[in-house]
Amino acid sequence: MTRRDVYAAIEAGGTKFVCGVAHSHDEILDTTRIATGTPEETIRQCLDFFKSKAKQYGSPRSFGIGSFGALDPSIGSPRFGWITETPKAGWRHTDLAGPFARQFGVPVGFDTDVNAAALAEFRWGAGISIAAGTSGATLVYFTVGTGIGGGAVVGGRLLHGLVHPEMGHLKTPRAPGDLEFSGVCAYHGDCLEGLACGPAINERWGVPAEELEADHEAWNMESFYLAHAVVSVTALLSPHIVVLGGGVMSVDGLIGKVRREAESAMAGYFPPAWGHDHLNDYIVKPGLGETPGLSGAIALAIDAAQSTPSRERSYP
Ligand code: ZN
Repeated sequence: MTRRDVYAAIEAGGTKFVCGVAHSHDEILDTTRIATGTPEETIRQCLDFFKSKAKQYGSPRSFGIGSFGALDPSIGSPRFGWITETPKAGWRHTDLAGPFARQFGVPVGFDTDVNAAALAEFRWGAGISIAAGTSGATLVYFTVGTGIGGGAVVGGRLLHGLVHPEMGHLKTPRAPGDLEFSGVCAYHGDCLEGLACGPAINERWGVPAEELEADHEAWNMESFYLAHAVVSVTALLSPHIVVLGGGVMSVDGLIGKVRREAESAMAGYFPPAWGHDHLNDYIVKPGLGETPGLSGAIALAIDAAQSTPSRERSYP
């Protein structure tokens, strides 16, 4: 019997790093959580975990890292694998992938946490319904929580462009009755994230989002913003499906409100609005749960192992 590949995965967040080793997204062998401290100590603790697990399960075939950003996911770039601009103290201009590549001598798939989640949803979650037999199947994934992020998978590959999409920072029209609120985005004020992330809801209504009743006016406003984000990506990419995840989307009935607002904003022009049933299949919740956990990083690791030998990647 041949030994099965082991993949190493890291979900790198601002408050914690989740590390795991797995055969696949649904066969995780071991995980640990490490509080996010300085880059040096956090990376050292992660390396210690993976060294110990390599003794137990065998050396990993590859790594996948889905990280907070902004970051450089461009293979061939001198700063591939780095976190670049970030408000997270101490983490600006940090080489996150390099230490793992050097320690284990294997390929590292490196991308934003949002892109990683989008890839996992495409492959194993809500995207299953479109991925099979649809040439150029396109999925857009938004996460709505402490921030808002969005990524796209086109024909099984993540859309990157220059670096990676920043769909959380697109501009939407103002919701009726919300003309005064200045928004919470540190860069843009009233971009989508600035108006509709969890902290924006807290700031606007003076109470934490999770304490607002499901029939509170806040959710009509929230659905207006999310619907306009969906309509914008519909106009730009014509995806087959738009997945809305993240903690805020767990509010009862919110996804239904978003569908109704989107139908209205589409004004009958875009195919998803041509039939009501179609919209129910077009704007959907994630298949892997509100937070995809390590699935995204495992997807990145599998792709890294299959696509690029480690020697072709540059780790300064
Ligand atoms: Zn912004």
